[in-house]
Amino acid sequence: MALLIRDAEIDGRRRDLLIRDGRIAVPGSGVVTEVLDAGGGALLPGLTDHHLHLHALAAARRSVRAGRTRADVSAALGPAVPDDHGWIRAVGSGDDDLDARELDRVRPDVPVRVQHRSGAMWVLNSAALAALEGRGPLDHPGVERGPDGVPTGRILRADDWLRDRLPAAAPPDLGALGRELAGYGITAVTDATPDLTPAAAAALADVPQRLTLLGVPLGTAPPPGVEAGPYKIVLTDSDLPDPDELAARIGQAHAAGRPVAVHSVTRESLVLLLVALETAGRMPGDRIEHAALVPAELIGSLAGLAVVTQPGFLADRGDDYRRTVPADEHADLYRCRSLHEAGVAVVLSSDAPYGPVDPWAVLRAASTRETPDGEPLGPEEAITPRQALDSLLSPAPGVAPRPLRPGDPADLVLLHAPLSEALRAPDAALVRATLVAGATVSASGG
Ligand SMILES: [Zn+2]
Repeated sequence: MALLIRDAEIDGRRRDLLIRDGRIAVPGSGVVTEVLDAGGGALLPGLTDHHLHLHALAAARRSVRAGRTRADVSAALGPAVPDDHGWIRAVGSGDDDLDARELDRVRPDVPVRVQHRSGAMWVLNSAALAALEGRGPLDHPGVERGPDGVPTGRILRADDWLRDRLPAAAPPDLGALGRELAGYGITAVTDATPDLTPAAAAALADVPQRLTLLGVPLGTAPPPGVEAGPYKIVLTDSDLPDPDELAARIGQAHAAGRPVAVHSVTRESLVLLLVALETAGRMPGDRIEHAALVPAELIGSLAGLAVVTQPGFLADRGDDYRRTVPADEHADLYRCRSLHEAGVAVVLSSDAPYGPVDPWAVLRAASTRETPDGEPLGPEEAITPRQALDSLLSPAPGVAPRPLRPGDPADLVLLHAPLSEALRAPDAALVRATLVAGATVSASGG
């Protein structure tokens, strides 16, 4: 089997590319069994989503979209059809104050659970709380209680505890999700979910993309064919560790040969992390996930580290940030340009399902910083579409996109247009075909 991609734009020149046995082959070698005419469209190394949550994204595909406001949540839940277990599962709520009483107003009839768009909180209605109590005491510290001691329905950072008490869901179809991601040109993904169980990690291997897992516990091996990436540490702002405790965790990861990937979305957690890294020492590959708020005075301290950021949140909810974040901190949100200029390895990612999954939308957000109301937020932090694309083409933070060289795996994305045209109007519709190890995972007509 050999596929010849004819007349593709590669590194600015129009030429042919031969693929044999899953790898890029020397031109002219052996018999060609299939030909694809690229018509001058750009052929690039495949895109990488450097931070997303595959299980949650697959589950979100089977859930009700809750919407941004309380009215949106009500409108979505009102007509929602319960699943096989009689539950309604909704995700992406932007209502910070939602509670059981509010949900009972809309759907008192069946158990309902609604995930906040941060991913850090579930809100259950009374029927869902009753169903949960039938399976044991509500004894997790994340179960919020009112002054009367009664659960409010709000349950924070208790996903594993909650999962044990919910009806078992059928395993999500990760193969289908992988094909959807390939439709965007994505050939590699880094799952950022912490503390994966062996079963959860094994299930993720069903995606056709190259897979890196930040949640492989220290001292355990990833599933075959999967890479254990840096070790994920979440800094929960309501319960920050002390610097020595964090330094010890970082030290353990480093001793196990793993850099760390530390979740930080506030200045407090960022300061804490920098102090802890000072004690623990840095290891190449250490990265900060999100760096959602970086005050100007800390930019210099981040030099030499990697930041895996998500300006897609600006496109998704930047108008909320404009209201809730003081104006002099708007540039602190999901910084790109200043970090890049300070020598930080900045790469883009989606954080899907919490941020928009489409890497082309993320690219646009990084280069325009436009919010849903059409205005930019912190426009001085914009990077060029080319810089944004390069970070999506790079296999890991700080690693340059690889040129298409014979012998390398044929992980490729073919566009309908030359690169200059694609960068002028970046859009997922530009993706014509996506190949992982030479196999076509996604192809559009034409
Ligand atoms: Zn995440």
